[in-house]
Amino acid sequence: RLYIKRQGWIEIVCGGMFSGKSEELIRRIRRAKIAKLHVMAFKPAIDDRYHSEAIASHNGLIADAQPVKSASEIMSLITPEVDVVAIDEVQFFEPEIVEICQDLADQGKRVICAGLDQDFRGKPFGPTPFLLAVAEYVTKLQAICVICGAPASRTQRLINGRPAAVNDPVIQVGASEQYEARCRHCHELVV
Ligand code: ADP
Ligand code: ZN
Repeated sequence: RLYIKRQGWIEIVCGGMFSGKSEELIRRIRRAKIAKLHVMAFKPAIDDRYHSEAIASHNGLIADAQPVKSASEIMSLITPEVDVVAIDEVQFFEPEIVEICQDLADQGKRVICAGLDQDFRGKPFGPTPFLLAVAEYVTKLQAICVICGAPASRTQRLINGRPAAVNDPVIQVGASEQYEARCRHCHELVV
């Protein structure tokens, strides 16, 4: 028996801050729209650093996105005609985002997630490692280390210009802190 159209899979774009995850997600959304596919994009409501109703990259690209407070809200907003589901900042969702992505892919949707794979301590971040395990397609991007110019896999957290401590809370959106791209060797953590 031939299955001519068996669609539905999970793509994940991961890496540290400034690695170009949002840029890549927006590129994939734009190409899907050129292909006349029905796209719905989501982001966690917690992430309001740029635009509340858009995915925004550090180099100024923008795509419309619906802010949602929980993973299950995504499920309730998806309509049958949706072909592509895009989710930015996926690390901020609860563990159930993994099953939701799996269900959507099983239903035939192309699911594209973008998010941090490591927190500022260099530890696996929230649901991202589980999505990496179940995704069909994994893209891991590198930024440029601001100290040495090497490819940067990590996100340096600075509080008042100094490296943050291990036991500082992971999520502090909107706090007066800074993040920069660093390689493994230039990444610093106060213990
Ligand atoms: P992410 O979503 O991974 O945080 P973005 O897509 O928002 O990344 O931003 C990527 C853009 O950030 C790059 O195209 C570049 O213009 C800019 N940028 C700023 N600092 C850096 C850096 N240290 N390394 C790479 N890109 C950087
Ligand atoms: Zn470095």
